[in-house]
Amino acid sequence: MTTTEYGRVITVRNGIEGPRHDPYGWEELTVQRPNGCWCYRTGGLGYIKISRNEGIMFEQNDDTKPGAEKEAIDFFARMTGLTPVQWLRTEMRLNRRCPSCGAKGYHLVGGYPGEEMIICDGCEHVVGSNFNDAAII
Ligand SMILES: [Zn+2]
Repeated sequence: MTTTEYGRVITVRNGIEGPRHDPYGWEELTVQRPNGCWCYRTGGLGYIKISRNEGIMFEQNDDTKPGAEKEAIDFFARMTGLTPVQWLRTEMRLNRRCPSCGAKGYHLVGGYPGEEMIICDGCEHVVGSNFNDAAII
């Protein structure tokens, strides 16, 4: 899914990698900025990679290391202006409209492990859910 607003492009992708008998989920957030195309990638294998125009700018292979994720998020926010979660919220706002009331605002509510429900701000209608396989593998 791709969205453009004020010249920005936000792309979110996810998939599966690793051996067929033991696959891991990965997620990628890519944002186009004046200073390059930034990608924030996390995988169930426990890595975080940030690249700019496909060149690795930050790499952490053990996301359980204290502070590793915060360091990655801070770096991404410094380079792109927003944290990955803020970019995802932006993407969500731009792409979804409540089928019940037409409102464009949403908030997330945690459900089962790895699952988030997307709730309409206008009428509390559940408009969708995000599911991260990597969180439960
Ligand atoms: Zn609604």
